[in-house]
Amino acid sequence: MVSRVIPVDPFDLVIFGGTGDLARRKILPGLYRRFVAGQMPADSRIIGAARGELDDAGFQKMVAEAIAEFVPAERQDKAAIKAFLERVGYVSIDAKGTGGWDALKSRMRENVVRAFYFSVAPALFGDLAERLHAHGIADAWSRIVVEKPFGRDLASAKALNAVLAEHFDEHQIYRIDHYLGKETVQNLMAVRFANILFEPLWKAEYIDHVQITVAETVGVEGRGAYYDKSGAMRDMVQNHLMQLLCLIAMEPPYHFDPDAVRDEKLKVIRALDPVKPEDIVRGQYLPGGGQGGYVEHSEDPASRTESYIALKCHISNWRWKNTPFYLRTGKRLRARASEIAITFKEPPHSIFDDAQGWRENVLVIRLQPNEGMNLMMMIKEPGPGGMRLMQVPLDMSFADALGAEAEDIPDAYERLIMDVIRGNQTLFMRGDEVEAAWAWADPIIAGWEARGDRPQGYDPGSSGPEDALMLMHRDGRRWREIKG
Ligand code: NAD
Repeated sequence: MVSRVIPVDPFDLVIFGGTGDLARRKILPGLYRRFVAGQMPADSRIIGAARGELDDAGFQKMVAEAIAEFVPAERQDKAAIKAFLERVGYVSIDAKGTGGWDALKSRMRENVVRAFYFSVAPALFGDLAERLHAHGIADAWSRIVVEKPFGRDLASAKALNAVLAEHFDEHQIYRIDHYLGKETVQNLMAVRFANILFEPLWKAEYIDHVQITVAETVGVEGRGAYYDKSGAMRDMVQNHLMQLLCLIAMEPPYHFDPDAVRDEKLKVIRALDPVKPEDIVRGQYLPGGGQGGYVEHSEDPASRTESYIALKCHISNWRWKNTPFYLRTGKRLRARASEIAITFKEPPHSIFDDAQGWRENVLVIRLQPNEGMNLMMMIKEPGPGGMRLMQVPLDMSFADALGAEAEDIPDAYERLIMDVIRGNQTLFMRGDEVEAAWAWADPIIAGWEARGDRPQGYDPGSSGPEDALMLMHRDGRRWREIKG
């Protein structure tokens, strides 16, 4: 199999917050990889813009260090790094100030794609958008990329959308949710809509339930002050898990086109029922394994912020009536693992005596580790033991299927940045989608705040709070094991 790298058009990409953590860990190393892969044309430019007083050479040094730290050693190539750095420059700008904007303008070239990555706190989005226009740097063809968190409730998301809309059209705004850039997440759409096999079964009649799990082993240490204002619901469910749910539940779009796909996702969010209090479990990790618990990492020793959440939701439409979607995500869990599992129903009648051996068909879409898909199937147990049944996985791990090429699969950020340059918004959240997701999440959060609910403690390295297990047991179901 030969992977095809299609170069994008030449571009000028300005990274506001170019000296920050996200730029150093993801954006800049990702751009280097796309440069090496031949996707970023040589006549493209990357301009870091941040408050720090640096010159080009100082920023290039920082970028070189970021590549050294965050690109695997075998992918670092001296000549390529040198060539990449020649395309990197820096302008010192305070988003709230007046200095530096003319210098930035003088760096921008005509007739290339202009993209502005807002890798800064959302409080600065409005200032940046306004100044880019006031200084004549952004035009009708420019794009802006904005990072999460996109609001912390419906009101703030609307305010952010309004501020951006003052200066940019919706088709110029790229709201990143890096989960949508993952190879398997896009493959989910290919599996659903490029095969006849699954879609006829993709409905409440044949699907018993869906589980979406995003489990992390890390805690919030170092980010406690930020996380305490957010929590797992705002930080993960409203955006990442919601996007995954949409891709599983949406109707086939008429075309793989940004608005066609996003229209269908929006319909799913709008069809979500309110979540009942008894269908929500919130948790907070306790101290253990020589490490502090959540409250030690927060600035508030009485914090009620959840580092774990599990909930059951329903989509009120013909396709999904009575098929529950169970979502869970948390920190300090037993393994780092993200997956979607679609559990099918029993066949209507069994002709086999071996009822004990029977297990449901499950389609597992693994986001990490080891991206790939797995279909759990029933077969006859090999050997002379009579007609016994056993379950085996039909395994499609990308690493196995693609061999060395799997290593060239761009990571989510790389792919999404290239999509920005191409002007393809399919994998980015539209403003109305984000608002609809907050409109669903807000009453859930308001509910537990009004009730004064405290999250349940759970041991680090566990699968989460006991009550989360009960959420499933009550329905005669079980969570899948969290395995790394
Ligand atoms: P950071 O604090 O490490 O970096 C912030 C950057 O913004 C720095 O380059 C700083 O110089 C610049 N900056 C701050 N105030 C400025 C101003 N007034 N004018 C111009 N530049 C200014 O933050 P980060 O972790 O890189 O995060 C950046 C954004 O990305 C935030 O919105 C964050 O929520 C989001 N985000 C970060 C991550 C991550 O992994 N770090 C993941 C998802 C989203």
